[in-house]
Amino acid sequence: MTNISIIQDDITTLKVDAIVNAANSSLRGGGGVDGAIHRAAGSELDLACQKLGGCPTGQAKTTPGFNLPAKYVIHTVGPIWHAGHQHEAELLAACYQNSLREAQQHHCQSIAFPAISTGIYGYPLTPATKIALQTVQKFAGDIHVIFVCFDEKTFTVYQQLLPEL
Ligand code: ADP
Repeated sequence: MTNISIIQDDITTLKVDAIVNAANSSLRGGGGVDGAIHRAAGSELDLACQKLGGCPTGQAKTTPGFNLPAKYVIHTVGPIWHAGHQHEAELLAACYQNSLREAQQHHCQSIAFPAISTGIYGYPLTPATKIALQTVQKFAGDIHVIFVCFDEKTFTVYQQLLPEL
């Protein structure tokens, strides 16, 4: 059984091995959770990201956490919602799978995910949550996965869908 927790919190405050950033393909920071992570980690994070040369949608790349309590930041680029016509579901699943692979490669025992693509990128919350839960259950192995919901609505949907797994 995969070890999954669902909490309502600010991901930048968590002392876990890795937090996942819902980044954009430039990896140069942005709004939402991306902006919050860059602010909390400090400017060294942007310098480290510059060296990575961007990241394609669905892929994931790792940096240190710098001033964050988390050891690592795993940057993944979620798909922008285009009414489901541009392989969004596969790309979103790939974000979770590739982030977990990065965590395994860095010997992480705990990883915290935000609700990737469901903010500025517009992915509808319920199908995105199903993909998050199903993909993590399939690929997390022994890693403790924490889904970090920023708002009440997201927290409620995650809690409702978890028993359906
Ligand atoms: P995307 O561009 O992938 O949609 P967003 O950052 O706009 O990314 O939103 C993804 C999710 O992250 C949303 O549910 C948003 O409310 C949430 N979020 C924003 N700030 C934080 C934070 N500090 N910690 C955790 N989740 C956050």
